[in-house]
Amino acid sequence: MATKAQQHIAIIGGGPGGLMLALVLQKKGIRSTIYEREISDQNAKRGGSLDIHEDSGQLALREVGLLEQFQAIARYSGQDLRLFDKHGKIHIDNVADDNAPGDRPEIDRGKLCELLLNALEPGCIRYGYKLVEALPLDEGKHELRFDNGHTDIVDLVVGADGAFSRVRPLLTDAVAEYTGISRVDLSIDSTAHPELAAFNSRGSMFALGDNKSISGQLNGDGRIRVGLSFRADRDWLDHCGVAFDQPGEAKQQLLTYFDDWAESLKSYIRCADGAIMTRRIYTLPIGLRWDTQPGVTLIGDAAHLAPPAGDGVNLAMRDAMELALSIVQHKGDLVKAIETYERKMFAYSSGSAQMSYESFNLMLSDDAVTKVKNLLEKFLEGADSSE
Ligand SMILES: Cc1cc2nc3c(=O)[nH]c(=O)nc-3n(C[C@H](O)[C@H](O)[C@H](O)COP(=O)(O)OP(=O)(O)OC[C@H]3O[C@@H](n4cnc5c(N)ncnc54)[C@H](O)[C@@H]3O)c2cc1C
Repeated sequence: MATKAQQHIAIIGGGPGGLMLALVLQKKGIRSTIYEREISDQNAKRGGSLDIHEDSGQLALREVGLLEQFQAIARYSGQDLRLFDKHGKIHIDNVADDNAPGDRPEIDRGKLCELLLNALEPGCIRYGYKLVEALPLDEGKHELRFDNGHTDIVDLVVGADGAFSRVRPLLTDAVAEYTGISRVDLSIDSTAHPELAAFNSRGSMFALGDNKSISGQLNGDGRIRVGLSFRADRDWLDHCGVAFDQPGEAKQQLLTYFDDWAESLKSYIRCADGAIMTRRIYTLPIGLRWDTQPGVTLIGDAAHLAPPAGDGVNLAMRDAMELALSIVQHKGDLVKAIETYERKMFAYSSGSAQMSYESFNLMLSDDAVTKVKNLLEKFLEGADSSE
């Protein structure tokens, strides 16, 4: 068995999970290499603000000594939360208490990843390396083949490569399935629209009705990220006829889907500027497990992709911490380290994936406002009583 000093650990993917794994290992004196398909860091472009939980994401940040830096830039006011029906009537107006910081402050994805990247030793991440396949060899080793022609033989390959992981097929036949929900993402300069900014709050708002939703989330750069969600066939975004590449025309077409919604809510489409993005929401089977294999494992979305409901990045960072600490604890025995990590990860991630799946579906269900209101009130009561 290779000793700890000799082991070559490859992490596929430089998202929050991969970066955190390399950083915890680095703090423990273990070298690893991240292989990222993009030619430079693209995390800032991949979505908006993320809430980082005290009992998962923040634990990992504490482990790598970055909790104080995180707290200095995190937006505690971003925990404001508003729920509307399609007529613009407000059903929940939760204002974060500035004197009693909550346990789920917000940070922009780009800022979080910048924090991790700045703490990593130079040269630990290789950009422009897209994994094409990983082939099992003897004694748990794997040969990695990249699209730039590079190959490498490693003692441990960790798939931190997200929803469509190229490492996952080594462990399971499960693939990410379309949930039946598609999203259109727009963005608004809140400083140019003070009325809308006040309506939105300092955090997030959701307006629900007719199995659709409009959501708005204020980001650290002053822009409101807007999401329009629809129940739709997998191909709907391609054949719905909305000219997504011509924002002016697309906005007019998108407004027709919300014809009888309140003007205050339609402003989220009217005031949008810049490019319009589309995405389909995917999930892995809830409670996915596999038999431990030598020399390979998964973290984050590659392991337990679920619809976005506020847990994904937290789980990815917790996975990273648990795996790294297990490698340290089991010294050179990588099989034992993987087995211990996976057993623990399966237990905490399956409950969270189930909750994400249920709450996400509730948002686009019949009488969604009443159901989501009940759920949020329980959640907010729980948050109050735990302080
Ligand atoms: C709209 C939206 C909103 C969300 N909001 C929240 C939220 O508020 N809170 C929260 O906790 N979570 C949220 N999530 C979920 C969260 O974004 C993910 O769970 C999280 O990013 C997972 O991190 P990861 O590192 O596992 O994977 P990713 O962030 O997907 O990173 C994977 C990395 O792997 C790279 N990669 C992929 N394939 C290859 C390959 N073949 N070779 C090399 N590199 C590769 C990619 O380029 C990427 O850098 C949201 C998700 C969406 C879609």
